[in-house]
Amino acid sequence: VNFEDYCLRRELLMGIFEKGFEKPSPIQEEAIPVALTGKDVLARAKNGTGKTASFVIPVLEKVRTDVAAIQALLMVPTRELALQTAQVTKELGKHISGLEVMVTTGGTTLRDDIMRLMNPVHILVCTPGRVVDLASKGNAKLDKCAIIVLDEADKLLSPEFTQLMEDTYRFLPQNRQSLLFSATFPVTVKDFADKFMRNPFEINL
Ligand code: AMP
Repeated sequence: VNFEDYCLRRELLMGIFEKGFEKPSPIQEEAIPVALTGKDVLARAKNGTGKTASFVIPVLEKVRTDVAAIQALLMVPTRELALQTAQVTKELGKHISGLEVMVTTGGTTLRDDIMRLMNPVHILVCTPGRVVDLASKGNAKLDKCAIIVLDEADKLLSPEFTQLMEDTYRFLPQNRQSLLFSATFPVTVKDFADKFMRNPFEINL
């Protein structure tokens, strides 16, 4: 399988090749085509397997830069991972003109995020607390956010975060796609998937 086989938009394919990716990794080969169809994906995947691109590529294929709305939420457990994920998204999406990727996490000034959200954002990369804060205040509007990604879901669904993840889902539209990646599947992750995902396609690598 080659990246060309997925019929991705040309601007995205350029970003993929410029990043030096020649062929999809196994997780990408499983996740990308299914995610492109709009189905929910529940993937067991470790770090270092190329899992970031396996959700970033479908997100970048679906995002419409002519629509000034948050269309994808990439949830990660730490600020460091949020910055890395946003960086990968910007690199792969480098040729998609007008694409706006924003990072919002705790430990930064809320006011700066509120100001930033006055301008268009298409993809929001965040940790659980801050996004609920911004959504409940009405600064981050998530009613057009049709894709949510949970990366390192076992950490995102640790006891301190689970309520915030459930709160986040309340702001999303009914017809949304969830892509969940986790190294392990403890009960918390299984319960969450049962509650919020719809007939997910399961990947076990
Ligand atoms: P990740 O598991 O997402 O942290 O990715 C691990 C590393 O693999 C990163 O340095 C990526 O840039 C790289 N990578 C991801 N997908 C591919 C690919 N299809 N071909 C070559 N390298 C890749």
